[in-house]
Amino acid sequence: MPPSAPPRQAASDAASAEEAGEVRRFWERLGLPGLVDVHTHFMPERVLHKVWHYFDSNGELIGGLDWPITYRKQEAERTALLRGFGVRAFTAMLYPHKPGMARWLNGWAADFARRTPDCLHTATFYPEPDVAAYVREAVEAGARVFKAHVQVGAYDPTDELLQRVWGMLAEARIPVVIHCGSGPVPGKHTGPEPIARVLARHPRLRLIIAHLGMPEYEEFLDLAERYEQVRLDTTMAFTGFTEQLMPFPRRALPRLAGLGDRVLLGSDFPNIPYPYVQQLQALEALGLGREWLRAVCHDNAAELFGLASEEAQGGAGR
Ligand SMILES: [Zn+2]
Repeated sequence: MPPSAPPRQAASDAASAEEAGEVRRFWERLGLPGLVDVHTHFMPERVLHKVWHYFDSNGELIGGLDWPITYRKQEAERTALLRGFGVRAFTAMLYPHKPGMARWLNGWAADFARRTPDCLHTATFYPEPDVAAYVREAVEAGARVFKAHVQVGAYDPTDELLQRVWGMLAEARIPVVIHCGSGPVPGKHTGPEPIARVLARHPRLRLIIAHLGMPEYEEFLDLAERYEQVRLDTTMAFTGFTEQLMPFPRRALPRLAGLGDRVLLGSDFPNIPYPYVQQLQALEALGLGREWLRAVCHDNAAELFGLASEEAQGGAGR
């Protein structure tokens, strides 16, 4: 008897193929070469499993919500899914929740980027005595984006230990995706005020406000309008799941349209409680038009990370 996939596996393969088709038709309709997703999570399996366990347990950092993980799969399957969707470049958002962890995570992420050419080499940090040293090492090793998680890390982004880090990243023009809004639940240091203080001191810092700053959408739009290097990622915003909890104020839509060159597609893949395509459909449903969608889903990030020029040089192979 020839080997064949068990029925459940075959059904899930068919579902993935169908979803990949839906995602691909979305960007093909826009005339794009694919998507760039600046907010996807890859981390050591042991850590990711802990994160999933946290979501399973309806933990307080997620507001005790029911949060089924749609893409609970092995790493190779997850990267294959993103490629199937036509995501040309993505990130490995990883973050420490305590001291002594970031350097190790950065080592893992450097290796992941080496073996995953379509992943933008990602790094992270935590306020601790050696933070400036290992951030410099990560920059020298070629990190192209950093992740900071003010809610899970429960640290003050204005911490003196981070001043050199912000300065270094501003100077190197390396973007930092930062979860600093008070969603899904506030942390001790979340919200726009600490970030406003960081930006007052480092106005050229390329912060990418994760989740569009939810639920403080408008306060973070203020910061983006004030500082031209501040960007926002769309992660989970506008989806049915999020709108029930933290609706985006409709009156702010024109401001979102006005910042069309600084809004970047982010999804939170794989840790999302719905299929990937819903993020794209939610963006389309805003009605901000084809050019806005093209910029948000691909062009803004391609320019920020120099993907177009890599392509021209034939260097990236993606
Ligand atoms: Zn995330």
